[in-house]
Amino acid sequence: MSKRHAATIAARAGIAQDTAFGAVTPPLYLTSTYELKAFKQPGQYDYSRSNNPTRDLLAEALAELEGGVKAIVTSTGMSACLLALQLLTPDDTLVIPHDCYGGSYRLFTNLAQRKQAFKLVIVNFQQPDWADKVAAAKPKMIWLETPSNPLLQITDVRAVCQLAKQLQALVVVDNTFLSPVLQQPLALGADIVVHSTTKYINGHSDIVGGVLVCNRVQLGDELKWWANCLGITGAPFDSYMTLRGLRTLEPRLRLQQDNTAKVVEFLARQPLVAKVYYPGLPAHPGHTIAKAQQSGFGAMCSFDLAADAALLPVFFNALGLFTLAQSLGGIESLICHPGSMTHASMDAQAQQTAGIGPTLIRLSVGIENSDDLLADLQYAFNAVANAIGRADNAGAAGSVVKQPHEQQQQFRLNPALSAFW
Ligand SMILES: *Cc1c(COP(=O)(O)O)cnc(C)c1O
Repeated sequence: MSKRHAATIAARAGIAQDTAFGAVTPPLYLTSTYELKAFKQPGQYDYSRSNNPTRDLLAEALAELEGGVKAIVTSTGMSACLLALQLLTPDDTLVIPHDCYGGSYRLFTNLAQRKQAFKLVIVNFQQPDWADKVAAAKPKMIWLETPSNPLLQITDVRAVCQLAKQLQALVVVDNTFLSPVLQQPLALGADIVVHSTTKYINGHSDIVGGVLVCNRVQLGDELKWWANCLGITGAPFDSYMTLRGLRTLEPRLRLQQDNTAKVVEFLARQPLVAKVYYPGLPAHPGHTIAKAQQSGFGAMCSFDLAADAALLPVFFNALGLFTLAQSLGGIESLICHPGSMTHASMDAQAQQTAGIGPTLIRLSVGIENSDDLLADLQYAFNAVANAIGRADNAGAAGSVVKQPHEQQQQFRLNPALSAFW
């Protein structure tokens, strides 16, 4: 069969494969163990930590979506990251980006410092000297996250993979922020892709899960062995839920991305917004690379509120639609303050180095009606403006920190944004 499109792979995940009763949707196999055919004659399955038919269907679909040869479904996104790190020994060096997901940063730094599991070198891939820094580190593995969390910085995956080939290093890409519908790192030269399936792949914020996809069988077999050995494979029920969520991945993302384009356009016009972070904006430093290596700009965006951090509660309390919560990628719109939530495990210094300011706000845009989303944000900005007005009248401090030159700076929305779909 010719290569299928992502929407087809996702929609058909696990469909019409039941050999027992011809069920169109696959059954959920809630069993820890499996009966042998006869003495010394094991069947296809023996124990659910190792293999489970429901989990295997999800793994097959995700491997095909990422263009890989083998996928291992794990209990969480973090356990997918942990699994990839099994390829390292204490003598090996891992290069990570300075602005990766807070939980990944915590895993990398604690395994390196407290367990000496590997040597760790942090590189800012946004600096022009990134290649020199990576080469000097002599890494066994290079970790990428693009777009990054929460500033949506873009790394040129192809360029890093070319350097990695010369250095004989493995490249792992955390593709959580885009999903295989919008970016396929293996096709760009990466060896391994990891996901928190908790996010877009499941898309309904009702389970946690992860996946690791490999570009070659031997690597996949080794990591499959480790997943069983460590006991971090995904639960059958969570796999069932993720299969169900996965089927609508493509249309969900299309809606979420359309809404995001409108939200970004709105934010760029807001006097109370100092800066908008979205790769779809032509002014974004990673815009050109994003356009080349992604097939859409995604549904995550961030902005700096142009007000004193003391007014953040006013903004969050005024929202009625955007839910203040960690996580992302669900059909419901979420809002978060990375400094105190997703990236709280980074100390103040690390946050500052990563460019996470005190009033940075991150949005995960859902599938609600876009007019309602914009009205919700407008209401919250008005609440902040009123609070500033009251404070100014009372002669108190809390003033707008936006500079006049920033007010003139206008982002124009790239017309190609919608043309992406
Ligand atoms: C959420 C997330 C993770 C961790 O996944 P869990 O499912 O929460 O364990 C890793 N990387 C990125 C980019 C994430 O957003």
